[in-house]
Amino acid sequence: MAVGQSSAHVGATKGFTYTTFTAAEEALKQEVRQFLRTELPIGSYRPCLGMSAVHDGEFTRKMAARGWVGMSVPTRYGGPARSAVDRFIVVEEMLQAGAPIGAHWVADRQSAPTIMRFGTDEQREKFLPAIARGEMWFSIGMSEPDAGSDLAAVRTTATRTDGGWLLNGTKIWTSNAMQNHWFIVLCRTSPNEGDRHEGLSQFLVELHGTPGLQINPIAFLDGTYHFNEVVLTDVFVPDEQVLGEIGRGWSQVNSELAYERAGPDRFLSVYATFEQLLREKLAGGELDARSYDVFGRITARYWALRNLSFSISRTIDQGGAPAVEASIVKDLGTSFEQEMIALLHDLWDDEEPSQEATTLGNRLLAACILTGPSFTIRGGTNEILRTVANKGLAAWHGVSR
Ligand SMILES: Cc1cc2nc3c(=O)[nH]c(=O)nc-3n(C[C@H](O)[C@H](O)[C@H](O)COP(=O)(O)OP(=O)(O)OC[C@H]3O[C@@H](n4cnc5c(N)ncnc54)[C@H](O)[C@@H]3O)c2cc1C
Repeated sequence: MAVGQSSAHVGATKGFTYTTFTAAEEALKQEVRQFLRTELPIGSYRPCLGMSAVHDGEFTRKMAARGWVGMSVPTRYGGPARSAVDRFIVVEEMLQAGAPIGAHWVADRQSAPTIMRFGTDEQREKFLPAIARGEMWFSIGMSEPDAGSDLAAVRTTATRTDGGWLLNGTKIWTSNAMQNHWFIVLCRTSPNEGDRHEGLSQFLVELHGTPGLQINPIAFLDGTYHFNEVVLTDVFVPDEQVLGEIGRGWSQVNSELAYERAGPDRFLSVYATFEQLLREKLAGGELDARSYDVFGRITARYWALRNLSFSISRTIDQGGAPAVEASIVKDLGTSFEQEMIALLHDLWDDEEPSQEATTLGNRLLAACILTGPSFTIRGGTNEILRTVANKGLAAWHGVSR
């Protein structure tokens, strides 16, 4: 189907296909908006910056009661078995509102689908219902001090022992490890000989009360605390906590990264700030020509990115694996977020943004300025995403690079 045509029912394709909500999807959007009006009336809370949201277990449980946590989890594992588009709708509304979705964010986005895809039946029974109830929260255990973009360079090892594995190494930038319950740890299980992508494996590890596991806080630029270093010293992990196949960690982790990169979280981090600043400008009377220009340009870019991201969700529901498209949207989305922070900062000449500013808009803008640089790093840097997109596009066209 050509770009520009509208349909909710197109065949899985490569690239982006314009799509619209069905009546049921539109009804879900209205239900989420109503929930937000009741639970988070504008002015009653400080909006969060997209997925870097505060942990609020009560809010997470309220969402779970509606079937909006662990959305991909099948009903036989206690989940709502919702489509990727349904998840897109809930996530878009929550992020636009700056809702406190931090507790379940990683579990909903990537841990649940990864466990569903690679886990044993026992693991699915143990983790998925608890995730869908909003009671089990996950972190990501991929990065290390010398392994970020080059993830295959991980040096944390898992060595065989009676009934399980002994993990040794250091994970870093582990967001919210101090509050979450479990993390999925990428380790080397056999020596790095020849192909570095061989010999990697994933393990489910409990973050609290596990002997040999130590969580050390790392302060973030804006003074908040969510980053950690997690040191593993002879941490015993029983065989029941091996996720997927020993030695197949590289392909598993890449499928997990595809879940991590595909969604509207990659262009909505600044949205609630943008809306608050617009609200404050409008409260001061008519917008001047410069403000019209800035807000108009940002709105148009939002609309374009949102339709690209929405199209990815539709493709996933149709059985596609849009990893290339997800990389492109993440690169475009996070670059746009940084550009818009600069545009908004430039527009604000009445008061310099700061954490102590008199208006909420300026306090939020200060937080965006401080955290914005991380947008193009987390989840894979833009240089790496461009490489993924480039290789994928070359493969589509049968070109070897
Ligand atoms: C806010 C935030 C939250 C995070 N949360 C987590 C988490 O919960 N769990 C987790 O495991 N990790 C997490 N990370 C880590 C994140 O995944 C890594 O920071 C990221 O993958 C980059 O790795 P690095 O920091 O080691 O940088 P490096 O890989 O050292 O990159 C440094 C620079 O070199 C460039 N570069 C590197 N290789 C290439 C190449 N081949 N070609 C071109 N340029 C290249 C990069 O683009 C970058 O600009 C988080 C990061 C941030 C910022």
